[in-house]
Amino acid sequence: MQEIRLELTKNPKQKPTDESKLGFGSIFTDHMFLMNYDEGQGWHDPRIVPFGDICLSPAAMCLHYGQAVFEGMKAYRTAEGKILLFRPDRNMARLNVSNERLCIPKIDEAFAQKAIETLVSVEKDWIPTAEGTSLYIRPFIIAVDPHVGVHPAKHLMFLVICSPVGAYYPEGLDPVKIYVESQYVRAVRGGMGYAKTAGNYAASLKAQDEAEKQDYTQVLWLDGVERKYIEEVGTMNVFFVIGDEIITPALQGSILPGVTRMSAIDILKSWGMKVTERPISIQEVSDAAKDGRLKEAFGTGTAAVISPIGHLKWEDHVMVINNGKIGEISQRLYDTLTGIQWGKLPDTMGWTVEVK
Ligand SMILES: *Cc1c(COP(=O)(O)O)cnc(C)c1O
Repeated sequence: MQEIRLELTKNPKQKPTDESKLGFGSIFTDHMFLMNYDEGQGWHDPRIVPFGDICLSPAAMCLHYGQAVFEGMKAYRTAEGKILLFRPDRNMARLNVSNERLCIPKIDEAFAQKAIETLVSVEKDWIPTAEGTSLYIRPFIIAVDPHVGVHPAKHLMFLVICSPVGAYYPEGLDPVKIYVESQYVRAVRGGMGYAKTAGNYAASLKAQDEAEKQDYTQVLWLDGVERKYIEEVGTMNVFFVIGDEIITPALQGSILPGVTRMSAIDILKSWGMKVTERPISIQEVSDAAKDGRLKEAFGTGTAAVISPIGHLKWEDHVMVINNGKIGEISQRLYDTLTGIQWGKLPDTMGWTVEVK
């Protein structure tokens, strides 16, 4: 493995003192990880350097053609002061799936994970300690060739930045209001929906903005062809509890395969529950809501872990789920996942990795 060069800052920043005001994604730590790719040379020069602006040509290809992929993960501090990552190998594997889709040269997954562990270790004093807080980790790769012309880049940068983030639910899990989007679509099969790439989020902004104007938190996407089948919610995968079946849309190329989704499925199955990955139409959900079989709905993702859905609006139909309160399964799943992540429950699945 390549040696990671360390250049520590001489001007460490003041760390936030009030951990109840961290918010999400606007404070960054003292250092970042960087390495470069140049054709003929491969990925090289891995280094941890002071966090700061990077220099790019205004012609850098990522700025024009969106050849950019990313990941999102967290480091958690346990009550005993240990630092845990949650299934980082899954994030690195997914990064390479995104890379493959966007013609970005693959990274060495084990090395990238080691780079993240090294960075988190350097920044360990930045990991907040208050209940529910964590260090959000954002690995990303951008094409930097100074060239206005559409072709796969020959020069790229891989970076990792970190941000201390607040508790997502300081007052307990609060169900969200979701707007079912029937006009705009996020991705289509054959497109890039399964990749964590910048362009998918650019495609989502318009609908998200309109949903927010109507006082909805996020958008529930329908399939891009028939506007019939459910895809996912904003930056979360989605589950519905209908009767005794827990249903989540099958991965068919237009949905992001979430690590939280995958983990939720494993946990629910370990409880002996019936979990089905299959196409599910918004009509089926609406019918189930009408005849009282829709018990719960929730989103899954690294940021919020589990986000119960209390209210769903599809054209003229408003569905209030579980009286707008968090359901039993959503709560139990949240407690179990966060219990493993923050080291409060035994990690029987072997999902956590300790950073020394
Ligand atoms: C990141 C992301 C998710 C959730 O993935 P996790 O690995 O669980 O954090 C779901 N949908 C989209 C569109 C995403 O970008």
